[in-house]
Amino acid sequence: MVDCIFCKIIKGEVPNYTVYEDESVLAFLDIFPHAKGHAVVIPKKHVETYFDLSEDGLVQLSVGVKKTMEKIQTVLKPDGFNVGWNQKPAGGQVVPHLHIHIFPRFEGDGGGSMHSIIKKWEGDVKEIAQKFNTSA
Ligand code: AMP
Ligand code: ZN
Repeated sequence: MVDCIFCKIIKGEVPNYTVYEDESVLAFLDIFPHAKGHAVVIPKKHVETYFDLSEDGLVQLSVGVKKTMEKIQTVLKPDGFNVGWNQKPAGGQVVPHLHIHIFPRFEGDGGGSMHSIIKKWEGDVKEIAQKFNTSA
């Protein structure tokens, strides 16, 4: 996609600090890192969201995430990770090219867990369960 910053990175038009690359994914250091070694893993095919990538593409992306984590583990030796993505502006997505964030985590780094993204929902779980036709 012409105006996509991540497509420009894939094409070599914008520089990046590559952490891992194979035929279908590229992983590079985030330019505004939230953690030491914060990286993003992207499919080389331009898609906006997780819904838009084929199942084969998702498998390749998942393998790319694992390989990138292994590389980070070897080089930076973090104590843990948070891995995930922001989907659509409501979920915090700014760059409309699917990317999986990898946050290496270090004991005492002051960060929270996934649960700190959104704190609490006060509604009724049973009511939601009914929408899925499921019961405990
Ligand atoms: P998101 O809010 O999930 O769309 O995150 C987009 C991420 O892309 C942000 O963490 C940015 O810091 C990162 N980013 C944007 N432009 C670049 C770039 N040229 N190189 C590396 N990371 C970038
Ligand atoms: Zn793109």
